[in-house]
This record gives sequence, C-alpha cells and structure tokens, in this order.
Amino acid sequence: MRFDASYMRDIDYYFMDTAAGIASPLPTQAMPTELRRLIEGLRVSGLSGRVEVGCILLGLDSEARKGLADAVKTLEQGLSEGHQRSFRMGIGDVGVSISYAEGAAWEEELRRSAVQMEQSGGRHWLAVQLRRDAPGEVRAIEVIVPGRFTATELASARAAHAQKTKETIMLERPGRNDRCPCGSRKKFKNCHGRKVVEELHALACLGQFRDRSSA
Ligand SMILES: [Zn+2]
Repeated sequence: MRFDASYMRDIDYYFMDTAAGIASPLPTQAMPTELRRLIEGLRVSGLSGRVEVGCILLGLDSEARKGLADAVKTLEQGLSEGHQRSFRMGIGDVGVSISYAEGAAWEEELRRSAVQMEQSGGRHWLAVQLRRDAPGEVRAIEVIVPGRFTATELASARAAHAQKTKETIMLERPGRNDRCPCGSRKKFKNCHGRKVVEELHALACLGQFRDRSSA
C-alpha cells in the first residue's frame, strides 16, 4: 500500500498557485462512500488523533482506498452476523485499525494492533473504534506505539496472530514471491516461508531431487 503521489502533487500545485495569487481549483479525489462516511465520522468526533487518521486515509492510493472501503463494508455486513469486528492495515511506518469491538474485545484489539505493528516494523499505529449503535460515528481513537504493552500483555495476541498466519498460509497457499500473510511486508520465502526454502535447499544438497530427464 502506498500514498497517492498524484494527489499530493495536486495539493502542491494548489499551494503554489494560491500563494502566488493565481486562482486554482481545489484538488479533488475519488472517494468511496464508506471512506467518505468514516472521514466525516472522524471530523465530527472532535477526538484527538482524528486529523492524523484522516491524513493517513486521504493519502492512500486508489487501490489501498478501495481495499479499505471493501473492508469497512465487510465489517458492517458482518456486524449483524457476529463476524469479524476489526480490520488492520499497515502503511509504511504507520498503521490504522478500524474496529467495532467493545469492552474486553476492544482491549484485545489494541493488543492485536500492537502485534500487527510489531510484525510490519511500524512505529505508530492508530486504532479507531466505531459505534455499533450509531453507524458512521467514531467512539474512540487510541494511539499505539512500541512499549505501550508489556510482553506478557501481548502473549495471547501474539499467539492469535501466529495461529491466524498459519491458517492463512494453509488456506491461500502463497507463492514464494508473494507478500507474507503475517503482515511483515516481506516476501513469503524470506519470512514465514523461509523454513520450507531451507528444507528444499537441504534436500537439494543431499541430492534428493532426481533429474527428470534421466528417469
Ligand atoms: Zn511472515
């Protein structure tokens, strides 16, 4: 996921034109409904951290923006059926979690976000809690930085993350050069797939692979 450079460039031009006294149209960008609603929810919440989350969302490229909008839609649909309550997304050093979790589940979500941040090598994560009873309204925004939780506090979240990674690998069967499902942003062969690569290498060294042409 990357930031949308073209939008930032439009903002730069707008700034330069306006500063030079030239009338310039406001830069615009296509925004999926779910994201527009989320940004509006952040704006009216008045909560600290809302501007930062808004900037991250507005800076996403169109692909990442669509991914996030789809995830929010899935969260909303799953809400009534008691399905997945949270979505986490790392972008460079930062990350955002969007969640409908409440009470103890929200506390667990914060620890899960901390683990996701750890995995992706991030330094700053923002967790946004949405209201179940009032769609589109933001209840809380929490900032997560390294050291917020102790290793003991993160133990169960780390175990859950490891289990989820394992399940995703079995389900999606990522290729060697795909992104690792753990969220590290490394290639699978250089991350959770490394062990298999090493095993293959060892087998090759032992001459375990037969030459097909001589079979
Ligand atoms: Zn991995």
